[in-house]
Amino acid sequence: SLSSRLQMAMRRLTGRGILTEKDIDEMMREVRLSLLEADVNFKVVKQFIANIKEQAVGEKILKGLNPGQQVVKIVHDELKRVMGEDAEGINYASSGITTIMTIGLQGSGKTTAIGKLGVYIRKTEKKNVMFIAADVYRPAAIEQLVTIGKQVGIEVYEEGLKDARDIVTNGLKYAKENKYNCVIIDTAGRLHIDEKMMSELVDVKAIANPNEILLTVDAMTGQDAANIAKSFHEQLNATGAILTKLDGDTRGGAALSIKEVSGIPIKFASSGEHMDTFELFHPERMASRILGMGDVLTLIEKATDAIDEDEAKSMMDKLMSDSFNYNDLLKQFKMIKRMGSMSKILGFMPGMGKIKDAASKIDDKQFDKMSVLITSMTEKERKDPSLIDKSSKRRERVAKGSGMSVQDLNRLRSALDQQKKMMKQMMNMDEKQLDSMSKN
Ligand code: GDP
Ligand code: MG
Repeated sequence: SLSSRLQMAMRRLTGRGILTEKDIDEMMREVRLSLLEADVNFKVVKQFIANIKEQAVGEKILKGLNPGQQVVKIVHDELKRVMGEDAEGINYASSGITTIMTIGLQGSGKTTAIGKLGVYIRKTEKKNVMFIAADVYRPAAIEQLVTIGKQVGIEVYEEGLKDARDIVTNGLKYAKENKYNCVIIDTAGRLHIDEKMMSELVDVKAIANPNEILLTVDAMTGQDAANIAKSFHEQLNATGAILTKLDGDTRGGAALSIKEVSGIPIKFASSGEHMDTFELFHPERMASRILGMGDVLTLIEKATDAIDEDEAKSMMDKLMSDSFNYNDLLKQFKMIKRMGSMSKILGFMPGMGKIKDAASKIDDKQFDKMSVLITSMTEKERKDPSLIDKSSKRRERVAKGSGMSVQDLNRLRSALDQQKKMMKQMMNMDEKQLDSMSKN
């Protein structure tokens, strides 16, 4: 798999500090081979490699990651990018009936996906869903939809093997009369794309004027799926793809090729015969899956954490010493802002649950205000907080310079004190006390 190939190449790079062009070439050879093996469209592979190389060359090595691991991270991010944004789901009609037309080759999993989509919409949107059976060339196709409808408790409108256009017209009328607000239309697929099928679909589209045209593509067909998607898209302008049979595919060729080759965004992932194996498509999850990578992912997470952890630790050392000053406080604000909340820093300390929760609620604006105050101090004042403490003239000057009040400055002063006090207290506590604190 892509992952094992990369791991091998990584091992050779382990321990080196920088990525050379040659290292990257070697890694890229592995990436290229494994993507082609995964049945990804060759144009997509080419572009993919070019993008990664561009990012990898000259990239500064992240602390905690060796060069090989870093390339894996870049590959992972690029995989994600190629597959597109997080799926948005269905674009519902603002009023009246939301009509969804499905298209796709015979056997691509259309009818099965309709059942799942119906269940999904009923569950997430509480809509009143109805199906229309307009795959009129095989009695078995209609029976199958009726069976699924019964199974999930969704009504199926059908007229047997009549003209699909009439069935859709009548079905939509029936839905309106019976207060349905979401209709999903099953249509005919062939084993291959042909003119007759396409012109029927074009007519159905004109009649139904659907909010969504969803194309089912069989993930097991690899990059063929992408070419099929392209042909459908050219004539029908699909609004999204449902990637089916993902339970049978571990390679990801289809997922990686569809959007780049056809332009259709993947909206849903369908992965099994059970009606609840259906979800919004998440590029992130798919990227991880393609890299085969529980372990690779945790590794990346760890490395990203390590960067923060190092800084947090040196901050802790500072806090515990008496020399903690305004420069440190400023650094701390910046760090906190970057991490989104203070919870991460406090997370490194034992038994800090309660404080952690409180800290995560601290307002960003407060940090900004206090940061401006600190930057209005002289370097000497920042390093030695007692200068500010001793002189009201200094306090007035700093407040004025920052456009804030002396009261604001006093708040900042007590923030600094509080940090120091908190640290002192913690140093004097034993494990038991810390434990009981976190339980309160
Ligand atoms: P349609 O011809 O496009 O309507 O495709 P169907 O819904 O009839 O599916 C064709 C075959 O693929 C059936 O045997 C389904 O049970 C099977 N199938 C559909 N979706 C999935 C899936 O997500 N995973 C698996 N393993 N099989 C599926
Ligand atoms: Mg079918």
